[in-house]
Order: sequence, then C-alpha cells, then structure tokens
Amino acid sequence: MGHIDVRNAIGSSYHDAVSGLRIDDIGPLDGTVVATLPRSDAADVARAVEAARAAQPSWAALSLFERANGLDRLADTMEAAADELAHLEALDTGKPWDVARHVDIDRCIRNFRFFAAFGRDQAPELFRMDDATNHVIRKPIGIVGLISPWNLPLYLLTWKVAPALLMGNAVIAKPSELTPLTAHRFSELVREAGLDGGLVNVLHGFGPEVGQALVEHPAVEAISFTGGTATGRIVAATAAPMFKKLSLELGGKNATVVLDDADIDAVLHGVVRSGFLNSGQICLCGSRVLVPSTMMAAFLPRFVDAVQRFPIGPVISEAHRSKVEGYLQLAVEEGGTVLTGGERGDGTGFHLSPAVVAGLSPTSRCATEEIFGPVVTVHPYSTEEEALDIANGTEYGLAGSVWTSDAERGRRFAERMDTGMAWVNTWLHRDLRVPFGGVKQSGVGREGGMWSLGFFSEAVNICVADD
Ligand code: NDP
Repeated sequence: MGHIDVRNAIGSSYHDAVSGLRIDDIGPLDGTVVATLPRSDAADVARAVEAARAAQPSWAALSLFERANGLDRLADTMEAAADELAHLEALDTGKPWDVARHVDIDRCIRNFRFFAAFGRDQAPELFRMDDATNHVIRKPIGIVGLISPWNLPLYLLTWKVAPALLMGNAVIAKPSELTPLTAHRFSELVREAGLDGGLVNVLHGFGPEVGQALVEHPAVEAISFTGGTATGRIVAATAAPMFKKLSLELGGKNATVVLDDADIDAVLHGVVRSGFLNSGQICLCGSRVLVPSTMMAAFLPRFVDAVQRFPIGPVISEAHRSKVEGYLQLAVEEGGTVLTGGERGDGTGFHLSPAVVAGLSPTSRCATEEIFGPVVTVHPYSTEEEALDIANGTEYGLAGSVWTSDAERGRRFAERMDTGMAWVNTWLHRDLRVPFGGVKQSGVGREGGMWSLGFFSEAVNICVADD
C-alpha cells in the first residue's frame, strides 16, 4: 500500500500547511513511512478559526435534540467505516487489529451514541425560591481547542469532540503527529455525515508549533488537553493568563494493589491486562503491582509466566522505545532485577517484550516516574497501611485498582487512595456518565457525563421573580 496523504481539514475543504512543509508518519510495526502530513503552524490555526467562526452560530442555534441527532448520524457513518478505522489505527499505533477494532473504534462510536442519548436525557435545571425561579441554561463556549495524544488516538479525540459538538461549539483538533490517520479519516466522516466541515477542523503538525499556536489563539476560548504532565504545564502556563477554560488530563503512575485475601489465580489475568494492555501505553495502566510479602513467592512466578504469554504490539516510536529501555537500564542501576522482557526481538519495528522488574525501592525513579510502556515494577508490603503509603507515594494521582476476595474491603481501601478513579476487582471498566480525571500532578478538572457537558459550555443562571 502506498503512503497516505494526510491534509488539514478546514471548513469544507482540505489543505496543505500554509508553510508547505510536511512530516513523515512512521508505522511502528516495521518502521516505514505510512503517511505524510502537513507541518502546520499559527497561519493554519488562523484559517481554522475563520472556518469555525463561520460554522458555529447556526449549529449553536439548533436545539440540543437536533445536535444530538447530528451526533447519531456521525456514529452511523463511523460504524459503517469501523473496520477501516481500526485498520488505520492499527497501522499508526502498531496495536493488534482486534484491540484497535474493539477497544478503540467501538469506543469512538460509543462516545457519540452516549453523548447523544445523555444530551436528550437532560432535564431542565430549575431552582425554586419562595418568590422566584432560577433557570440554569448552558450556552456554547464558541470555538474550543482539542489536543490529544498518540496512545488511544481517535478514542481520546472523539471523547472530546462528541460533548463539545453536543453543547453547540465548533472545534479545532490537534491530534498527535505520531498518529494522524484516524483523525484524518474521521474529518472526512464528519463531512459525509452531513455536518458542516467548519464544526470539526483538524490541524496536523508538531505540538510546540501548531498545538502551541492553538492554545495561544485568543478566539479559542477553551482547551481540552490530554497528554503528559510536562506538556500540560506548558499548556496551562499559556492558557491560564488568557482566562481560558482548561481541562487537563495528564500522566499517571498507577498502583495495582493485591490484598492478602486475593485468590491469585482469579486476579492474575486482570492484573496482567491492567499492566500491559496497549503495551502499557494507557494512562490508566497499573505500572506498580503491590503484593503482600507473604504472597510474593506464590505470586511472582505465576505473574511472570502470565506476562510472557500476554499478546502485545510494538511501542509507538523508536524514540519512545529508547526511553523505555533507558528506564530498564536505570532499574538495574537502582538495584532492581528485570525478571522478564525488555527485548527487541528480530523484527524491524519498535517491538519491546513486556518487562517485569522486582527488587526496587518504591521510592526509586523507576517506581515513581511515568514510563508509559510495557514495564511493571513489583513491590512487597507488610501491612495495608504500608500498601497505601506506597500507592499514594508518587506525585501522580490518576487511577488505581484493588484486587481482593472481599469487595467491601476493596472499596474501603480504594476510598483511601489519592486518585481520581479506582477499580475493585476490575480495570478499565467505564460507565461514561462518571467523572474521569486525576488529582495531584495527573490533571485538573474532570470529563465524562455531566462534567463534560459542564466543561464544554458556560452555565448561566436566569433568576425570574414570580408575578
Ligand atoms: P504529549 O504531552 O507529548 O503530547 C500530547 C499532545 O500535546 C500531542 O498532540 C502533542 O503534539 C501536543 N503538544 C506538545 N507540545 C505542545 C504545546 N506546547 N502546546 C500544545 N500542544 C502540545 O503526550 P504524548 O502524546 O506523549 O502522550 C502520552 C502522555 O499522555 C502520557 O503522559 C499519558 O499518561 C498521557 N495520557 C493521559 C491520559 C489521561 O486521560 N489522563 C490519557 C492518555 C494519555 P505532538 O505529538 O506533536 O508533540
């Protein structure tokens, strides 16, 4: 297959970057160029803002019901193209096709169906007083900027596009330059579904160039950003003085806590999956497994064996593989032992076998910094209090999971974890109505259900005195 020509979707047409520059998109399966894309900058943002400005008012004038119907139409076109979208996602990320099809693309479609139905279910928000009634209405913000990472490219992008459109906004999206393919195809599907192209503009290029320009543009009044904590800091420093609305979904170093009453065989698959799904490149992955010292001898060999049999693809890029390998080297320098994994294999792509590291202090760099790859560190603990101290002992606070034979005990433990989300005896089990987001350095704000509707709109109160 020849390489794909990705272009910026602006209004009703497709454009090269104003600069004329292009970037290669390298497929992680074999390291070849699969596409080229525009290297956009502030000049392209200016064009997209014009297109968004032209399209947004008539969209905002529709009722919430009519906009919800638009979301459903888009879900229909995506459903018809689901296999193709999964193919593109697998090509760009290296993940197995069925993970792309059933974890990523199914969820992309569900993002639109969910927000369409959720929007239709909203009851009027009325607050009665003795002598007046408060009517809370939600107005569109206008133009919102959506910046997303490479690990779940279309999944995370559509998680933002769906509520942003539902609430009457136009969007300018900046996907990661490492994974532009599904965002590009999605921009075509938006137009095939009959939505005005100016509602969903997609600009490709490097974060510090087009991403930064998007955050800086005064007409872009809100930024929803998902990515690393260091980048989030730059985005916040740029947007905050302009008083833009900001949602930051950032990194994590999540703990997977096996309690002393857990049945090892029953929890093993869940613990392994939480560590290594998508080659550990999901912000929610559990990269630190905490096991009672008394169970370690029974747990560790079974865990290593299960990890060796877990299906896994390559990591996203050569540079990312080097970063992950650097952490494995550091693990050894810090006194750890790599029990399995960390090997490249014979392929030409960016493969790295899933690695388990034991013997590290829970305060070591490898056990506290986000690696975002197929590496899990395992740590013994003696008491539940100690497990909690280790779990809460990083600057991050995104998610965690607890594995136990006593769900109520697990829930009590989870309540004491400093995280925005926690699972008990399950992982990545998502009800889209609930809040999603992190505490500490893992982010600011929440998305999901009402939280997304709140973020992508301006709540306005109108107090009407009784006659
Ligand atoms: P990055 O922070 O490197 O990039 C995220 C996005 O921001 C990319 O589109 C990037 O563009 C863009 N960007 C980079 N610099 C700027 C800038 N100055 N202004 C505006 N945009 C910019 O993250 P990764 O893509 O490496 O993704 C991995 C990270 O994402 C991990 O830390 C992971 O934990 C986090 N993540 C968090 C999730 C959550 O929900 N909390 C979910 C998934 C991932 P470019 O690619 O061109 O650099």
